[in-house]
Order: sequence, then structure tokens, then C-alpha cells
Amino acid sequence: MTITTKEMSSPTSTKKRDTAVYGKIHSVESFGSVDGPGVRFIIFMQGCNMRCQFCHNPDTWKVNDPNAKVRSSEEMLKEALNYQTYWGKRGGITVSGGEPLLQMDFLIDLFKRAKAAGVNTTLDTCGQPFTFKEPFFSQFKELMHYTDLVLFDIKHIDVKGHQILTGHTNKNILEMADYLSEIGKPVWIRHVLVPHRNDTDEYLAALDKFIKSLHNVDKVEVLPYHTMGAYKWADLGMKYPLEGINPPTKERIENANQLLHTADYKGYLTRKF
Ligand code: SF4
Repeated sequence: MTITTKEMSSPTSTKKRDTAVYGKIHSVESFGSVDGPGVRFIIFMQGCNMRCQFCHNPDTWKVNDPNAKVRSSEEMLKEALNYQTYWGKRGGITVSGGEPLLQMDFLIDLFKRAKAAGVNTTLDTCGQPFTFKEPFFSQFKELMHYTDLVLFDIKHIDVKGHQILTGHTNKNILEMADYLSEIGKPVWIRHVLVPHRNDTDEYLAALDKFIKSLHNVDKVEVLPYHTMGAYKWADLGMKYPLEGINPPTKERIENANQLLHTADYKGYLTRKF
């Protein structure tokens, strides 16, 4: 959801402010080093429709959370540019969440401004809002025009397993992956490895097969599930769904890396944006 100035009218608004697009922001990180190439300014958007059992940021779920900050795309870019000297040739801005695709107008405007300023733009998404229906699809196509790289989470390759793990189907998510391949948009695939949920050899082999069918994958990453966000579930009065499930062992992580052939994906080392 995006807030426009019509909803935020102020007697002091200038004409310039009237064209601003506002988003609901959970938080920012000035020096991110894992969510995209180089050093990055990361904007975590508020709101997510998935309910991943391992989510370590359930405080991002509610779009209308009173703790969210309402900021314009112009302000966010200005803040990010304060750190530009640290980005080098590969760094830039990553928008993560929550789920950024829920605030499409803000995203498009931010990335459009960022590209005009020569900044690398990376979208970190789980793909849940993706649909070929309008108006979403036209907006998504426009967004891709201003997006250099997509960090794409595939939580589970099996549709039933995905439903259990996240509360949603993966059908449209896999369709989004296919579409990004079709248009040749560079992606890094990320897979959170969760014991007793998605770490069987069968599931990993099926995920490997799917990833191999794509033509745009620069990197594949196995992210071991961890319990560091469990306290947030308690703070929000919710029962942690993976109580008693420990993070994967080194052996299982290595097994996943082998079955997904992560070492074979090296495009990220040479990609020029
Ligand atoms: S998609 Fe991300 S933010 Fe949303 S529930 Fe899953 S882990 Fe949490």
C-alpha cells in the first residue's frame, strides 16, 4: 500500500511535495553487506502477506503498524545518497521488507529517481504479490525497467510444503521466477534451509531442477534457518511455530549447497550493471 499526498494533505505542502510518493518504512540499514552487491543502503518496507514459520521480522507484517514511518521516495533517496561514497562501483540501494511489492507506487518512484542518479537498485522480494493481472502486472513491468537486480526468495519448491511453511501457494511465485527469466532480469535465488520443512534431498533436487530451468541466475544462496527472531514472536504475543526445531547442521547446509550446485553460479562476480 502506498500513501499519496492526497491522503496526507498539509496546508504547507508545496507543488513539489504534491508529486511525492510516500511509503511505509519499517527501518533502514546504512551499511548492508549481504543483500546485494557491494555496500548497500537497505530500506525495509512495512507489510507482508506471507506468514513464514521462520520469519525473524514478524513486526514487519502489518502494513498499518503504528510504528512504521511514512517517508517520501525523495527523502529516502536523499538519505541513502549520504552514504554513496561508501558504495564503490558495485553498491547502491536495496529495498527489502516485509514485502516491498506491496508498495508498488513508492518502489517505482524510488527506483526511477535512483536510476536517474546513477544508483544501483536491488529488490529483495518473496514474490507473493506477483500476478499477471492488472494493474499489478503493468506496474511490475515498469518497476523492472528501473531494477538492476532481484534477490528472489524461494521458500519451498513443493506447493503443499510452501503452503505449510508460509501460509501461501508458490504457484505465482514460480511464475514470477519464470517471467524474470524470460525478460533476462538478473536474480540471486535465496533459499532458507529449514529442517523438517524443506531440507530433504527430494525437495532440494526439485528446487535445483527448477533453478536450472531459469536463464538469469547469477547466484544461488542457502541461508540456514536461525532462531534469532523467535523473541519477536513472543513480544507480539504469538506462539513460535518452529519451537524445538534447531538450525540445520553444517552437514545439512553443505548437502544443500551441493544439491543446489550453488558454487556453479558465478555470474554475480562479473555482472556489470
Ligand atoms: S516473506 Fe519475509 S517478511 Fe514475509 S513472512 Fe516471510 S520471512 Fe517474514
